[in-house]
Amino acid sequence: MTTPTVEFNDGHSIPQLGYGVFKVPADEAERAVSQAFEAGYRHIDTAAIYGNEEGVGAAIAKSGIARSELFITTKLWNDRHHDDEPDKAIAESLEKLGLEQVDLYLVHWPTPAKDDYVHAWEKMVGIRERGLARSIGVSNHLVPHLERIVEATGVVPAVNQIELHPAYQQREITDWAAAHGVLIESWGPLGQGKYDLFGADAVASAAAATGRTPAQVVLRWHLQKGFIVFPKSVRPERMAENIDVFDFELTDAQIAAIDAMDPGDGSGRVSAHPDEVN
Ligand code: NAD
Repeated sequence: MTTPTVEFNDGHSIPQLGYGVFKVPADEAERAVSQAFEAGYRHIDTAAIYGNEEGVGAAIAKSGIARSELFITTKLWNDRHHDDEPDKAIAESLEKLGLEQVDLYLVHWPTPAKDDYVHAWEKMVGIRERGLARSIGVSNHLVPHLERIVEATGVVPAVNQIELHPAYQQREITDWAAAHGVLIESWGPLGQGKYDLFGADAVASAAAATGRTPAQVVLRWHLQKGFIVFPKSVRPERMAENIDVFDFELTDAQIAAIDAMDPGDGSGRVSAHPDEVN
């Protein structure tokens, strides 16, 4: 089944589900991405810091899939916001990926203590104007960061890619994004396996009721909330499981029960806070 697409505020579209390659070792990336393509994935989420762009590029080159069928995201790393570094960084990423343009380029973290994310965003706008990235967005940006880059440039990011899973739903950011036409990409959509998400009542009971796996229920929750997801697994059977989520629906009650899993005090966060990454 073809993965549905959602539309950005710049008119371009993205497959709502993809395959993420965080922590996929460089020497495994070509195999893993090739297997993801075989399983039907067409959207790949990588980053310069993951060190596996060459492997992703090798899989793209070998796949024989038309470039227009693929959606490739990569990200600008934190030490390259200043001066002309973003221009050099995108050139390096494109070289490694073997591409002339990425579909989406993101500022990976705002690194607020360095206070150079507005400059980085200005450079991203130029990168898009020169056609090196078709769409541009940000990652791990809090509302004050988002407000500042939009005020400085007038350019609203296509997406904000943030840690988001049932125990940590980031409602302040998702509300801001909905009001400003920014799509949310959920990273760590399965909680990175760091808490018992699959055993939680709301997830386990929806899995029992639908006859699907807990991972499929959680991915379905993201999709029905309108979020973009790219779960990571290097195991082909899980890759297949994670994309097999377009032939069932959660009920409003099942969605509401998962919505209620966030304690609301930020304690469900499993990874770094953007203010602490500099
Ligand atoms: P995730 O929530 O996707 O968890 C991945 C882990 O879940 C895997 O290692 C595997 O152990 C387990 N898993 C996957 N499928 C499963 C299944 N069907 N059943 C049981 N367990 C399963 O976490 P992630 O990899 O950190 O996030 C996904 C992607 O988000 C990354 O690969 C990367 O592309 C992106 N990401 C971005 C940032 C950022 O700062 N922008 C940070 C982290 C991740």
